[in-house]
Amino acid sequence: MSTTWQLPDPEATRELGRRLAGVLRAGDLVVLTGDLGAGKTTLTQGIGTGLGVRGQVASPTFIIARSHPSLGQGPDLVHVDAYRLGSLAEVDALDLDSSLEDSVTVVEWGEGMVEDLTEDRLEISVARPRGGLAGQDEVADAGTRTVTVRAVGPRWEGVDLASAVGRADAW
Ligand code: ADP
Ligand code: MG
Repeated sequence: MSTTWQLPDPEATRELGRRLAGVLRAGDLVVLTGDLGAGKTTLTQGIGTGLGVRGQVASPTFIIARSHPSLGQGPDLVHVDAYRLGSLAEVDALDLDSSLEDSVTVVEWGEGMVEDLTEDRLEISVARPRGGLAGQDEVADAGTRTVTVRAVGPRWEGVDLASAVGRADAW
């Protein structure tokens, strides 16, 4: 079961994250895939805002994982760069302020790594349009992102993500 959103600008990407946070709870895992510059960190920033966590969500590159403790009653956010990670078990071995059971864990570039470790996960792909003119980074940066969320495992059975999040043109 998968749902797709077309997101015209970075604010829409953040808003999708905020809305997804409404269905996320402690112990959930979100796996983000997509090219460099697609919008994975932007989406994670929205999730952080929606969860109400401390600290600015930035690219986890060079740090492997960062914990963002909840400011309220909700779960913490653990933001992981899987690119430099062998397995999710390594995150638990890090000396983070948050445990994975008490957190929503968002893994960037996690495809192919976490599938064997987790039964339940949201697999989110972020894609930007191809065809920007060579050498024009602003062209490559622009353009509607296509975000597809695939809910895997019994945790997500009966959860209607499309209804919970709504359509982007109605936000
Ligand atoms: P990643 O983490 O996948 O490398 P980022 O989240 O850092 O990508 O985003 C890269 C760029 O894409 C940023 O400049 C961001 O503002 C922009 N961006 C994100 N979402 C969209 C969107 N829906 N439309 C246009 N630009 C976007
Ligand atoms: Mg990133």
